[in-house]
Amino acid sequence: MAQRHDTSARPVVREVECKTLLNRGKLGYSINCYTGCEHACVYCYARFMQRFHPHPEPWGEFVDVKVNAAGALAKQLKRAEPGGVFVSSACDAWQPLERERRLTRACCRLLIEHGFKVNALTKSPLVLRDLDVFRPGLTRVGATITTLDAGLRRLWEPCASGVEERWGILESAKEAGLETAVMFGPLLPELSDGGESLEALFGRAAELGVDVVWVDAMNPRPRVWPAVGRLVRQQWPALHDRYARIFHHEPTREKYLAALRARVEKAARAAGIEDRLAGCP
Ligand code: SF4
Repeated sequence: MAQRHDTSARPVVREVECKTLLNRGKLGYSINCYTGCEHACVYCYARFMQRFHPHPEPWGEFVDVKVNAAGALAKQLKRAEPGGVFVSSACDAWQPLERERRLTRACCRLLIEHGFKVNALTKSPLVLRDLDVFRPGLTRVGATITTLDAGLRRLWEPCASGVEERWGILESAKEAGLETAVMFGPLLPELSDGGESLEALFGRAAELGVDVVWVDAMNPRPRVWPAVGRLVRQQWPALHDRYARIFHHEPTREKYLAALRARVEKAARAAGIEDRLAGCP
């Protein structure tokens, strides 16, 4: 599967209709107005979607637009019990296409009107366009940050926004009186998961008064390794074996995760926000 590094190339866009939009899983509700994601992150777990929705293009180069998303959601909301809704679980709901399509915006408005809480998690400052739709108490705005290093960000998340723009999302959401969250992850083994990096990440989260912090580790989900392994081999050949063992050798992975957890907890304590650490692998 090729990786997309031509950040000016546009994805192949198809319009599709969905029967339902609101999904209920173990962790609560989620919606996805798009299948596929223009951000094309190398480590993206949502690649698994291609098992159920095969596309000839590689991940990051196609997006199916669910043109009737708001209509399908409106029908479901007549009967659903209000709760938190993850926006989104298998794509970035504010990827570039959303600027013109405005499907996520329409769905967030509907969710809030019906008393559901929008739990946004994005890499795009486009989410700030929808501040007028969001409501305190019924919205949490979250940003994903994998690394503070601009060069690493470009390699791993070639079509997503820069790191400063993502901190800016949290700052603006906070100013608007909304609850905020940050997902640090997936942390990149040996590249963005060291004590110093973690202290810088947690320190910034504390400065901005972020309400909830999650940490995620690189995860051996289906279809992820070929893309990750290829990038690591190209850019950091000396780390390739280490990554391969973290992905495929359970004892190595367990040891890696235990050490990572200890560093994360230490950094959270140093920043004085250990009580806001809601999830760590
Ligand atoms: S933004 Fe999220 S869904 Fe989109 S490619 Fe990156 S990791 Fe995958």
